[in-house]
Amino acid sequence: MPGSPFVERPSSVDAFLPIGGLMAFKYFALTGIVDPVHPAGFIMFVAILGVSLVLKKGFCGWLCPIGTLSQYVWMTGEKLFGRNFRIKGYTDISLRSLKYLLLGMFVFLIVIAMPANMMALFFIADYYKAVDVRMMKFFTEMTTLTMWVLIGLGVLSLLYKNFWCRYLCPYGALAGLLSRLSPVKIRRNEEKCVHCHACTTHCPTQIDVEAKTVVKSEECFGCLTCVSRCPAKGALEVRASAGKRTAVLKPWLFPVLLVVLFYVVIGIGIATGNWHSKVPYQDYQSLIPEIQKEYANRKVVLKPERAQRNTQGRKETLRTPN
Ligand code: SF4
Ligand code: SF4
Repeated sequence: MPGSPFVERPSSVDAFLPIGGLMAFKYFALTGIVDPVHPAGFIMFVAILGVSLVLKKGFCGWLCPIGTLSQYVWMTGEKLFGRNFRIKGYTDISLRSLKYLLLGMFVFLIVIAMPANMMALFFIADYYKAVDVRMMKFFTEMTTLTMWVLIGLGVLSLLYKNFWCRYLCPYGALAGLLSRLSPVKIRRNEEKCVHCHACTTHCPTQIDVEAKTVVKSEECFGCLTCVSRCPAKGALEVRASAGKRTAVLKPWLFPVLLVVLFYVVIGIGIATGNWHSKVPYQDYQSLIPEIQKEYANRKVVLKPERAQRNTQGRKETLRTPN
Protein backbone atom coordinates (compact mmCIF):
# COMPACT_ATOMS: atom_id res chain seq x y z
CA MET A 1 0.00 0.00 0.00
CA PRO A 2 1.48 3.44 -0.87
CA GLY A 3 2.84 5.26 2.20
CA SER A 4 3.13 2.10 4.30
CA PRO A 5 6.54 0.76 5.35
CA PHE A 6 8.36 -1.83 3.24
CA VAL A 7 9.44 -3.63 6.42
CA GLU A 8 7.50 -3.30 9.67
CA ARG A 9 9.63 -1.76 12.45
CA PRO A 10 10.06 -4.43 15.16
CA SER A 11 9.27 -2.81 18.51
CA SER A 12 11.87 -5.01 20.21
CA VAL A 13 14.65 -2.85 18.69
CA ASP A 14 13.94 -0.57 21.67
CA ALA A 15 16.00 -3.09 23.67
CA PHE A 16 19.05 -1.36 22.20
CA LEU A 17 18.07 1.86 23.98
CA PRO A 18 18.76 1.05 27.64
CA ILE A 19 19.31 4.69 28.61
CA GLY A 20 15.90 5.52 27.12
CA GLY A 21 14.50 2.64 29.19
CA LEU A 22 15.93 4.14 32.39
CA MET A 23 14.57 7.59 31.50
CA ALA A 24 11.15 6.14 30.72
CA PHE A 25 11.22 4.23 34.01
CA LYS A 26 11.83 7.41 35.99
CA TYR A 27 9.21 9.27 33.96
CA PHE A 28 6.66 6.53 34.67
CA ALA A 29 7.54 6.54 38.38
CA LEU A 30 6.95 10.32 38.55
CA THR A 31 3.94 10.70 36.27
CA GLY A 32 2.39 7.23 35.74
CA ILE A 33 2.74 7.82 31.97
CA VAL A 34 4.50 5.30 29.71
CA ASP A 35 6.89 6.80 27.16
CA PRO A 36 4.81 6.65 23.93
CA VAL A 37 7.83 6.88 21.61
CA HIS A 38 9.80 3.79 22.67
CA PRO A 39 7.44 1.98 25.07
CA ALA A 40 9.02 -1.43 24.40
CA GLY A 41 12.29 -0.08 25.84
CA PHE A 42 10.48 0.76 29.08
CA ILE A 43 8.69 -2.61 29.21
CA MET A 44 11.92 -4.54 28.66
CA PHE A 45 13.67 -2.43 31.29
CA VAL A 46 10.93 -3.37 33.78
CA ALA A 47 11.15 -7.04 32.71
CA ILE A 48 14.91 -7.07 33.35
CA LEU A 49 14.52 -5.41 36.75
CA GLY A 50 11.76 -7.90 37.69
CA VAL A 51 13.73 -10.94 36.53
CA SER A 52 16.84 -9.76 38.42
CA LEU A 53 14.88 -9.22 41.62
CA VAL A 54 13.33 -12.69 41.49
CA LEU A 55 15.86 -14.86 39.64
CA LYS A 56 19.20 -13.14 40.26
CA LYS A 57 21.22 -11.96 37.29
CA GLY A 58 19.60 -14.65 35.14
CA PHE A 59 18.84 -12.21 32.32
CA CYS A 60 22.59 -11.83 31.70
CA GLY A 61 23.18 -15.58 31.80
CA TRP A 62 20.25 -16.75 29.70
CA LEU A 63 18.62 -13.98 27.68
CA CYS A 64 20.94 -11.08 26.93
CA PRO A 65 22.14 -11.19 23.27
CA ILE A 66 25.42 -9.46 24.20
CA GLY A 67 26.01 -12.01 26.99
CA THR A 68 25.34 -14.85 24.54
CA LEU A 69 27.68 -13.35 21.96
CA SER A 70 30.35 -12.83 24.66
CA GLN A 71 30.07 -16.47 25.63
CA TYR A 72 30.62 -17.68 22.06
CA VAL A 73 33.58 -15.33 21.69
CA TRP A 74 35.38 -16.57 24.84
CA MET A 75 34.58 -20.17 23.88
CA THR A 76 36.27 -19.47 20.53
CA GLY A 77 39.21 -17.96 22.43
CA GLU A 78 39.41 -21.07 24.59
CA LYS A 79 39.59 -23.23 21.47
CA LEU A 80 42.22 -20.97 19.83
CA PHE A 81 44.53 -20.51 22.83
CA GLY A 82 43.72 -23.66 24.78
CA ARG A 83 42.42 -21.56 27.69
CA ASN A 84 41.04 -18.19 28.71
CA PHE A 85 43.13 -15.80 30.76
CA ARG A 86 42.19 -14.30 34.12
CA ILE A 87 42.62 -10.84 35.55
CA LYS A 88 43.16 -11.27 39.26
CA GLY A 89 43.37 -9.39 42.54
CA TYR A 90 43.15 -5.62 42.78
CA THR A 91 43.31 -5.16 39.00
CA ASP A 92 40.17 -7.27 38.66
CA ILE A 93 38.42 -5.40 41.49
CA SER A 94 39.34 -2.00 40.04
CA LEU A 95 38.18 -2.97 36.56
CA ARG A 96 34.91 -4.39 37.94
CA SER A 97 34.21 -1.05 39.56
CA LEU A 98 34.11 0.58 36.09
CA LYS A 99 30.62 -0.74 35.36
CA TYR A 100 29.36 0.68 38.68
CA LEU A 101 30.94 4.04 37.83
CA LEU A 102 29.13 4.02 34.48
CA LEU A 103 25.88 3.04 36.20
CA GLY A 104 26.43 5.78 38.80
CA MET A 105 26.95 8.34 36.03
CA PHE A 106 23.67 7.39 34.30
CA VAL A 107 21.79 7.32 37.61
CA PHE A 108 23.12 10.79 38.44
CA LEU A 109 22.37 12.28 35.02
CA ILE A 110 18.93 10.73 34.57
CA VAL A 111 17.50 9.75 37.94
CA ILE A 112 18.87 12.68 39.97
CA ALA A 113 19.64 15.61 37.64
CA MET A 114 16.98 15.36 34.91
CA PRO A 115 13.54 16.76 35.84
CA ALA A 116 10.33 15.19 34.44
CA ASN A 117 9.47 18.22 32.28
CA MET A 118 12.86 18.04 30.57
CA MET A 119 12.21 14.34 29.87
CA ALA A 120 8.80 15.13 28.36
CA LEU A 121 10.50 17.61 25.99
CA PHE A 122 13.16 15.03 25.13
CA PHE A 123 10.50 12.38 24.37
CA ILE A 124 8.83 14.58 21.74
CA ALA A 125 12.10 15.70 20.13
CA ASP A 126 12.88 14.40 16.62
CA TYR A 127 16.24 13.14 17.88
CA TYR A 128 14.57 10.73 20.33
CA LYS A 129 11.88 9.64 17.87
CA ALA A 130 14.51 8.25 15.51
CA VAL A 131 17.18 7.42 18.09
CA ASP A 132 16.83 3.72 17.16
CA VAL A 133 17.72 4.58 13.56
CA ARG A 134 20.74 6.53 14.81
CA MET A 135 21.76 3.54 16.94
CA MET A 136 21.60 1.31 13.85
CA LYS A 137 23.67 3.81 11.87
CA PHE A 138 26.18 3.93 14.74
CA PHE A 139 27.00 0.30 13.91
CA THR A 140 26.27 0.06 10.19
CA GLU A 141 28.19 3.26 9.34
CA MET A 142 30.61 3.29 12.22
CA THR A 143 33.49 5.71 12.60
CA THR A 144 37.08 4.45 12.64
CA LEU A 145 37.20 5.05 16.41
CA THR A 146 34.06 2.94 17.00
CA MET A 147 35.49 0.19 14.81
CA TRP A 148 38.76 0.05 16.79
CA VAL A 149 36.90 0.12 20.12
CA LEU A 150 34.76 -2.82 18.97
CA ILE A 151 37.80 -4.71 17.68
CA GLY A 152 39.52 -4.07 21.03
CA LEU A 153 36.50 -5.37 22.93
CA GLY A 154 36.33 -8.40 20.62
CA VAL A 155 39.99 -9.27 21.25
CA LEU A 156 39.63 -8.80 25.02
CA SER A 157 36.49 -10.97 24.96
CA LEU A 158 38.44 -13.72 23.18
CA LEU A 159 41.09 -13.65 25.91
CA TYR A 160 38.94 -13.05 29.01
CA LYS A 161 35.57 -14.58 29.80
CA ASN A 162 32.69 -12.10 29.51
CA PHE A 163 35.00 -9.06 29.42
CA TRP A 164 32.21 -6.61 28.55
CA CYS A 165 29.73 -8.04 31.08
CA ARG A 166 32.24 -8.31 33.92
CA TYR A 167 33.90 -4.93 33.59
CA LEU A 168 31.86 -2.51 31.54
CA CYS A 169 28.14 -3.24 31.25
CA PRO A 170 26.11 -0.80 33.44
CA TYR A 171 22.97 -2.86 32.81
CA GLY A 172 24.74 -5.91 34.26
CA ALA A 173 25.86 -3.78 37.22
CA LEU A 174 22.24 -2.83 37.96
CA ALA A 175 21.01 -6.41 37.51
CA GLY A 176 23.82 -7.63 39.79
CA LEU A 177 22.94 -5.19 42.57
CA LEU A 178 19.26 -6.18 42.39
CA SER A 179 20.20 -9.86 42.33
CA ARG A 180 21.43 -9.54 45.94
CA LEU A 181 17.75 -9.29 46.90
CA SER A 182 16.73 -12.38 44.94
CA PRO A 183 15.31 -15.23 47.05
CA VAL A 184 16.91 -17.74 44.66
CA LYS A 185 20.52 -18.68 45.35
CA ILE A 186 23.01 -21.47 44.64
CA ARG A 187 23.72 -23.28 47.90
CA ARG A 188 26.50 -25.76 48.68
CA ASN A 189 26.04 -28.59 51.13
CA GLU A 190 29.37 -29.12 52.91
CA GLU A 191 28.40 -32.64 54.02
CA LYS A 192 27.84 -33.84 50.48
CA CYS A 193 30.65 -31.87 48.81
CA VAL A 194 33.66 -34.00 47.82
CA HIS A 195 35.86 -30.95 47.16
CA CYS A 196 36.64 -31.80 43.57
CA HIS A 197 37.00 -28.08 42.60
CA ALA A 198 34.80 -28.62 39.51
CA CYS A 199 32.37 -25.81 40.40
CA THR A 200 35.11 -23.25 41.04
CA THR A 201 37.12 -24.31 37.99
CA HIS A 202 34.21 -24.01 35.58
CA CYS A 203 32.44 -20.93 36.96
CA PRO A 204 32.68 -18.38 34.11
CA THR A 205 32.53 -15.49 36.57
CA GLN A 206 35.49 -16.67 38.68
CA ILE A 207 33.47 -17.29 41.84
CA ASP A 208 35.11 -19.67 44.31
CA VAL A 209 31.92 -21.69 44.67
CA GLU A 210 33.67 -24.46 46.58
CA ALA A 211 34.50 -22.02 49.37
CA LYS A 212 30.93 -20.72 49.75
CA THR A 213 27.87 -22.02 51.50
CA VAL A 214 25.62 -19.61 49.60
CA VAL A 215 26.64 -17.85 46.36
CA LYS A 216 25.57 -14.25 46.97
CA SER A 217 27.95 -12.54 44.56
CA GLU A 218 26.47 -9.93 42.22
CA GLU A 219 28.71 -11.41 39.52
CA CYS A 220 26.79 -14.73 39.54
CA PHE A 221 24.48 -14.74 36.53
CA GLY A 222 22.76 -18.00 37.35
CA CYS A 223 24.19 -19.95 34.42
CA LEU A 224 24.12 -23.09 36.61
CA THR A 225 27.39 -24.37 35.10
CA CYS A 226 28.58 -25.11 38.65
CA VAL A 227 25.47 -27.21 39.37
CA SER A 228 25.75 -29.11 36.11
CA ARG A 229 29.48 -29.83 36.68
CA CYS A 230 29.09 -30.99 40.28
CA PRO A 231 29.56 -34.77 40.48
CA ALA A 232 28.22 -35.12 44.06
CA LYS A 233 24.43 -35.43 44.14
CA GLY A 234 22.87 -32.80 46.35
CA ALA A 235 26.14 -30.95 47.00
CA LEU A 236 25.09 -27.94 44.92
CA GLU A 237 21.46 -26.89 44.66
CA VAL A 238 19.38 -24.01 43.44
CA ARG A 239 17.24 -22.98 46.39
CA ALA A 240 14.45 -20.46 46.77
CA SER A 241 14.05 -19.06 50.28
CA ALA A 242 11.32 -17.08 51.97
CA GLY A 243 12.07 -16.31 55.61
CA LYS A 244 13.12 -19.56 57.23
CA ARG A 245 11.41 -21.68 54.57
CA THR A 246 13.53 -22.94 51.72
CA ALA A 247 12.77 -25.18 48.73
CA VAL A 248 14.97 -26.85 46.13
CA LEU A 249 14.36 -25.68 42.58
CA LYS A 250 15.03 -28.22 39.82
CA PRO A 251 17.84 -26.70 37.71
CA TRP A 252 15.78 -26.91 34.48
CA LEU A 253 13.03 -24.92 36.16
CA PHE A 254 15.30 -21.89 36.61
CA PRO A 255 15.60 -20.92 32.89
CA VAL A 256 11.96 -21.88 32.31
CA LEU A 257 10.77 -19.52 35.08
CA LEU A 258 13.13 -16.87 33.78
CA VAL A 259 11.73 -16.95 30.26
CA VAL A 260 8.13 -17.16 31.51
CA LEU A 261 8.54 -14.19 33.87
CA PHE A 262 10.29 -12.10 31.23
CA TYR A 263 7.63 -12.76 28.60
CA VAL A 264 4.77 -12.28 31.06
CA VAL A 265 5.97 -8.70 31.56
CA ILE A 266 6.32 -8.25 27.78
CA GLY A 267 2.80 -9.74 27.36
CA ILE A 268 1.41 -7.23 29.88
CA GLY A 269 3.06 -4.44 27.89
CA ILE A 270 1.49 -5.66 24.64
CA ALA A 271 -1.93 -6.29 26.23
CA THR A 272 -2.04 -2.80 27.74
CA GLY A 273 -1.06 -1.14 24.44
CA ASN A 274 2.39 -0.18 25.70
CA TRP A 275 4.61 -2.00 23.24
CA HIS A 276 4.37 -0.46 19.78
CA SER A 277 5.65 3.07 19.23
CA LYS A 278 3.03 5.79 18.75
CA VAL A 279 5.28 7.59 16.28
CA PRO A 280 3.40 7.63 12.93
CA TYR A 281 5.19 6.29 9.87
CA GLN A 282 4.87 9.69 8.21
CA ASP A 283 7.33 10.98 10.86
CA TYR A 284 9.81 8.22 10.01
CA GLN A 285 9.37 9.05 6.33
CA SER A 286 10.64 12.56 6.96
CA LEU A 287 13.16 11.77 9.75
CA ILE A 288 15.03 8.84 8.16
CA PRO A 289 16.05 10.73 4.98
CA GLU A 290 17.30 13.55 7.23
CA ILE A 291 19.49 11.13 9.17
CA GLN A 292 20.72 9.56 5.94
CA LYS A 293 21.64 12.99 4.65
CA GLU A 294 23.46 13.77 7.91
CA TYR A 295 25.55 10.58 7.62
CA ALA A 296 26.25 11.21 3.92
CA ASN A 297 27.50 14.74 4.80
CA ARG A 298 29.77 13.29 7.48
CA LYS A 299 31.40 11.06 4.88
CA VAL A 300 31.90 14.02 2.54
CA VAL A 301 33.54 15.99 5.37
CA LEU A 302 35.72 13.07 6.47
CA LYS A 303 36.93 12.06 2.99
CA PRO A 304 38.63 15.37 2.02
CA GLU A 305 40.20 15.53 5.50
CA ARG A 306 41.67 12.06 5.04
CA ALA A 307 42.80 12.85 1.50
CA GLN A 308 44.49 16.04 2.78
CA ARG A 309 46.22 14.09 5.57
CA ASN A 310 47.46 11.47 3.08
CA THR A 311 48.81 14.14 0.68
CA GLN A 312 50.56 15.93 3.54
CA GLY A 313 52.02 12.61 4.74
CA ARG A 314 53.33 11.84 1.25
CA LYS A 315 54.90 15.33 0.92
CA GLU A 316 56.61 14.96 4.30
CA THR A 317 57.99 11.52 3.32
CA LEU A 318 59.42 13.04 0.12
CA ARG A 319 60.99 15.89 2.09
CA THR A 320 62.58 13.57 4.71
CA PRO A 321 66.30 13.06 3.84
CA ASN A 322 67.65 9.47 3.86
S1 SF4 B 1 28.82 -21.20 37.58
FE1 SF4 B 1 27.43 -21.07 39.33
S2 SF4 B 1 28.32 -19.48 40.64
FE2 SF4 B 1 29.28 -19.29 38.62
S3 SF4 B 1 28.02 -17.76 37.54
FE3 SF4 B 1 27.20 -19.77 36.99
S4 SF4 B 1 25.59 -20.11 38.52
FE4 SF4 B 1 26.84 -18.47 39.32
S1 SF4 C 1 31.57 -29.37 42.21
FE1 SF4 C 1 30.25 -30.13 43.86
S2 SF4 C 1 31.49 -31.63 44.93
FE2 SF4 C 1 32.90 -30.48 43.63
S3 SF4 C 1 33.66 -28.83 44.99
FE3 SF4 C 1 31.87 -28.00 43.95
S4 SF4 C 1 30.15 -28.42 45.31
FE4 SF4 C 1 31.85 -29.72 45.99
